[in-house]
Amino acid sequence: MEPELTHYQVLGIHPSATLEQIKQAYHAAVLKYHPDKAVSGTVLPTTVPDVRQSGANTDAFQLVKQAWEVLRDAGQRAAYDGLLSLKEMQSAIAYQDELDLLDMDVEDRHEGVRLFTHPCRCGDVYALSETELAGRDSLVVPCRTCSNHVLVRASGT
Ligand SMILES: [Zn+2]
Repeated sequence: MEPELTHYQVLGIHPSATLEQIKQAYHAAVLKYHPDKAVSGTVLPTTVPDVRQSGANTDAFQLVKQAWEVLRDAGQRAAYDGLLSLKEMQSAIAYQDELDLLDMDVEDRHEGVRLFTHPCRCGDVYALSETELAGRDSLVVPCRTCSNHVLVRASGT
């Protein structure tokens, strides 16, 4: 099954985009997808993603319209952002292993920032820089190569 696009992905914008940027992306997307306005050969911003794989132009236009209706409204957008971060947290919990920061190998990097690594089953490593962990009790770290994740606990530091 295709992963569902977020409203931000539909409009090709960053989740921290301003209302003005959202509006611009929306107008560009309307030009691209509107059933009446779609004109072949029109020059469009490259930032507009092509969501047409998921269906006809009309479907893409519906997605764009839904995205705009939520994101234009500060209250609705805040509620939507809350929902997204909840989803992100839930997916971040899908890690394969747990380990303690003290069990990781330490490499010194430039400017005194330490890099913690731990071998992954695939042969590459999980890598975590000291600054990423700052102020957290634990962090889910992805492998640099495969899709495995590991939960690193900062206990004892
Ligand atoms: Zn791996």
